[in-house]
Amino acid sequence: MKPLILGAALLAASPALAQPGAEQPLLTTLAAAVSAEREQATDARLVGFGTRHTLSDTTSETRGIGAARRWVAGQFEALSKSCSGCLQVVTPAQTFTGPRIPQPTAIVDVLAVQRGTTDPDRVVVISAHIDTLASDFLNGRLDAPGANDDGSGVSAVMEAARLLSAHKFPATIVYAVLSGEEQGLYGGKVMADYAVAQGWRVEADLNNDIIGNIHGLSGVIDNTHVRVFSEGSRTTESPAQAVARHDAGGDEDSPSRNIARFMQTLADRYLSDLQVRMIWRPDRFRRGGDQREMLSQGFPAVRVTEAAENYTRQHQTVRVENGVHYGDVLDGVDFPYLAKVTRLNVLTLAALASAPEPPRDLAISGAVTANTTLKWAPSPGAAGYRVWWRDTTEPQWRYSRAVGPVTETTLQGVNIDDWFFGVSAIGADGFESPVVFPGPSGSFDRMPPSARTTP
Ligand SMILES: [Zn+2]
Repeated sequence: MKPLILGAALLAASPALAQPGAEQPLLTTLAAAVSAEREQATDARLVGFGTRHTLSDTTSETRGIGAARRWVAGQFEALSKSCSGCLQVVTPAQTFTGPRIPQPTAIVDVLAVQRGTTDPDRVVVISAHIDTLASDFLNGRLDAPGANDDGSGVSAVMEAARLLSAHKFPATIVYAVLSGEEQGLYGGKVMADYAVAQGWRVEADLNNDIIGNIHGLSGVIDNTHVRVFSEGSRTTESPAQAVARHDAGGDEDSPSRNIARFMQTLADRYLSDLQVRMIWRPDRFRRGGDQREMLSQGFPAVRVTEAAENYTRQHQTVRVENGVHYGDVLDGVDFPYLAKVTRLNVLTLAALASAPEPPRDLAISGAVTANTTLKWAPSPGAAGYRVWWRDTTEPQWRYSRAVGPVTETTLQGVNIDDWFFGVSAIGADGFESPVVFPGPSGSFDRMPPSARTTP
């Protein structure tokens, strides 16, 4: 029997930190082009509608959510004219009643769709909600400026559209401005249902909600971090899938979580003044956002939110009380910080839409052997693949090996028991997909909610 050499697996690995290929000039160009001034102008225009409450006036041309939605649609149409019609503007809608919608009310989303050149059914989404709230959930007449919640997010969506519509990408990018979030995530549901009906393969929804404040309620000022929330196991997994995940691993490797890792890696690489704090939960504690509706339809989605929230500026009627300024006004938004967070979004969308699809049908084997074998289906447009692994307690992918244009590889001397493994796809131009974890718990394929009842 040959003697064991401890550390053989580590020596066999390439000790490089996770980095998606070579630096991409497109990404550095895009990062430099994000304009804090333009975002400030967009946000000021949104605040100028007085209120964008879901139950506010929809017929006025100057006040209320109807005027605001029509303005956004007009901006997308104008952008489209400057890119030879590259954006299709659609307004999916459904009518809801609920605890916060006493009368049947149309919830209308405004989506601009930039169709991909070679893989148009693969879709990456940036979303934010246009509706706002003052202290009374049911009052659509109160001023509710919503400069940060979520004028900041809508400004980021529109800035992303302005910059990315000047380029062409293999995959489709959707710029989504949603309604009805404050009344119960209704606009998120409208978008998720629309995505299902269109047969979109949503690779990621980056839901930006409250992304422009740097003055935390605790007194901390933080303009160098952003939080990216992601679920660990998938909202829609069936009981049988949960058992398989519990047994083989994958608690921390949903596609949403691997999108969060992808974003952290991009920030480390391209943004010297912004770091991603991955938060390993679907949203803030017992709070919600529109990404939950995408997760409920089985699509990967993350929530992007500022590092330090200020609750005196959320969902509050504008007023001063005992010297405290309440209300979500423009003064509460730090536009240079908002531009940083927007940069992260723009880079992520461009990188995802440029790269091949993450490998599908990834399977892993190697129990009671010295080696680990991974097999996957080819990704259209991939020139090669990279196998990744990390310690089971480590938050980020650490070791990697480029394996060329193959669909199976065996890592000699790397024991399957001791590591978590994944694979990414790399295009001829070096753009690299997120890492996908083996099995249904990690797959970027949609996991329909029906799976929950058919274990
Ligand atoms: Zn919000």
